[in-house]
Amino acid sequence: MAMRPTHRHVLVVAGSDSSGGAGVARDVATLSHFGVPASLAITAVTAQTHAEVVSAQAVRASHVAAQMRAALAANPIGSIKLGMLATAEIVEAVAEVLTGFRAIPVVLDPVVASTSGARLLSGLGVESLCDKLLPLASLVTPNLPELAVLTGSNAARSEGEIETQAVRLIDRGPSNVLVKGGHARGRQSIDTFFTTGSPPRHFASPRRDATLRGTGCMLSSAIAAHLSLDLDVASAITRAKAFMDQQFAAAEQRVS
Ligand code: PLP
Repeated sequence: MAMRPTHRHVLVVAGSDSSGGAGVARDVATLSHFGVPASLAITAVTAQTHAEVVSAQAVRASHVAAQMRAALAANPIGSIKLGMLATAEIVEAVAEVLTGFRAIPVVLDPVVASTSGARLLSGLGVESLCDKLLPLASLVTPNLPELAVLTGSNAARSEGEIETQAVRLIDRGPSNVLVKGGHARGRQSIDTFFTTGSPPRHFASPRRDATLRGTGCMLSSAIAAHLSLDLDVASAITRAKAFMDQQFAAAEQRVS
């Protein structure tokens, strides 16, 4: 009987955040929660508090590619999670490496800006991401502002507008899109999952009083963790959402 390789890693391609609120610190903590080891390619080193991005230094694109290639040579990689990519040069270098590893599922968290408003991917980077990375992604996880930027639209305000923009994104190549509803209003936070050939599927969670940083990083890493454990995309999202609900409930306990 063929043995499935054990301890497959998730390769995290993302930036660091000195406050620990977002970025690779969150990614690695999330993966270890699920017992999944991380391999790393750091794209940018940022100086941040919880209120602002003080400065950001992008890593040279060729060195990001070198980190990815070394990680892929060193460890069995079960899935790849892409977070902050900073520049068009890094986006292109990452895409070039990924074209050599098409069998590995890729979760793309299209990080454009921090909650505090600082730009984390340049305008040219957004264009390159649409051209080069969307076609290589198994799943893209935009929030409403990111979905608007990627589709050149205004932020969607209704289910119909979300669907129009998500379909426009799927037309650019990714097999699956999860639109995160955290930036919308209402008693529930509703994420919507789009996959070709099936109707949209909703994942609802109670809207919590607590705000939590790095939620996009955690959700995409939790999904990548479950893909590396061989779950299909929809099941990986279900597990990852349950994990996020626990994180929000714990944060709410801390503030009350
Ligand atoms: N800093 C880094 C390095 C990130 O990767 C991200 C999001 O992915 C952020 C900051 C933004 O996090 P937040 O919106 O919680 O500030």
